[in-house]
Amino acid sequence: MSVSKRPKLVVGNWKMNGLRRDLAELTAIGEIGTACAPVQVAVAMPSPLIYPAARAAPGLQVGAQDIHPESGGAFTGGVSAAMVRDAGGGFALVGHSERRLSCGETDAIVQAKASAARRDGLSAILCVGEEAAARGQGQAETIVGRQLEASLPSTGDGAWLSIAYEPIWAIGAGHTPTLVEIAAMHAVIRRHCVVRLGEVGRSVRLLYGGSVTGANAGAILGLADVDGVLVGGASLRAATFAPIVRAAIR
Ligand code: PEP
Repeated sequence: MSVSKRPKLVVGNWKMNGLRRDLAELTAIGEIGTACAPVQVAVAMPSPLIYPAARAAPGLQVGAQDIHPESGGAFTGGVSAAMVRDAGGGFALVGHSERRLSCGETDAIVQAKASAARRDGLSAILCVGEEAAARGQGQAETIVGRQLEASLPSTGDGAWLSIAYEPIWAIGAGHTPTLVEIAAMHAVIRRHCVVRLGEVGRSVRLLYGGSVTGANAGAILGLADVDGVLVGGASLRAATFAPIVRAAIR
């Protein structure tokens, strides 16, 4: 699929931030998203805010930061893909490094969560990325390849799935890999998708995440095989998110 057939996707991740009073920011972000079509804008919200967020920002795709692999049952604290959908959510992040590291999520669990999203009608943004030591040892592409091998569902269409490359050492750090490193990793991920999914792998959107700001978004989004960005800190305020969304228009 040509790059032009993969609309740019700018995704915010509010992490464990935000109360109902902050939804005015989301409404403003939704208005920016509408103004910047065909760029697609989405925000992964804390679970209690998914329902009010979907109502506060109808022009925006609202989603979850995590889902449970099971549909329902005795899983205290769990939130299923069906619940997210019922609340007005359209997608879920799976395998964010903060969950892989602090909740012990393995690639197998991430794969089960991605499959649960597909089963229950959500799209999934599957996150991968290496630690600083692996990058320093020249192992970044090997590590990310292994994560994809073990966490990517083996079926799926391109529209349902996106992959976010988020080097752990760049998240919230104020620095990013070089443009050459980002481009190289995205090429590796694209090859992996095609080997794994066939031609469908060309339509999977690949996002970069890690310290994206209005200052660096344009250059990152201009790289081949970068179809969007996943943004943490800068997505919390319309004033810092808007320049990133605008940088995706081209
Ligand atoms: C993230 O948490 O996915 C992220 C990319 O965070 P930040 O933009 O703050 O680095």
